Amino acid sequence: MIIGVLALQGDFREHVDVLRQLGVEVREVRLPEHLAGLDGLIIPGGESTTIGKLAMTFGLIEPLRDFVATGHAVWGTCAGAIFLAKDAGYPQPLIGMMDISVARNAFGRQVESFETDLNMPELAKVAEGDEPFKAIFIRAPLITSVGPGVEILAQLDAGRIVAARQGNMLVTSFHPELTSDPRFHRYFLQMVKLCMVATTSS
Ligand code: GLN
Repeated sequence: MIIGVLALQGDFREHVDVLRQLGVEVREVRLPEHLAGLDGLIIPGGESTTIGKLAMTFGLIEPLRDFVATGHAVWGTCAGAIFLAKDAGYPQPLIGMMDISVARNAFGRQVESFETDLNMPELAKVAEGDEPFKAIFIRAPLITSVGPGVEILAQLDAGRIVAARQGNMLVTSFHPELTSDPRFHRYFLQMVKLCMVATTSS
């Protein structure tokens, strides 16, 4: 299995480190040809407008859409989640394939960054116990609406959505790569395996 990490801008190195710690082969993706042969892709946090502009410059928008459309597992964290969304509320370049709307910088100036314990029952599929996940939010987006095919995986107490999945696409408003808890990456790797089975048998 080879997992790509989009390495145009943002905290891609942290994702690469977690994946390597889990013994996974990783490739940094900067050009369309780097997508060939990958089994899954992570789009990191950073600045979604910058990631989008660089993706346009390097001719990556259509190849990334194809990668998603052919059933490969893709996970966007924070800016990566915005980049995957159909609607970001701004006219900015997006992959735009996941049926969610997001509100960028939804936590305002007072609480730009914070940590909170999040319950995510799905993580029990990859680890013992049901300890909450320490979620780190940095100028994070909120998922403000989801289409019918989207499963909500985690919400803040007030019912605000911060993790969701639609088939082969996973998004989180927060940054699991900045914690020492690899459960989220394990969860994504399990998703990659399931998507590999689905794409080879279809
Ligand atoms: N605020 C950034 C954006 O709108 C996302 C922040 C992050 O990825 N930590 O793109």
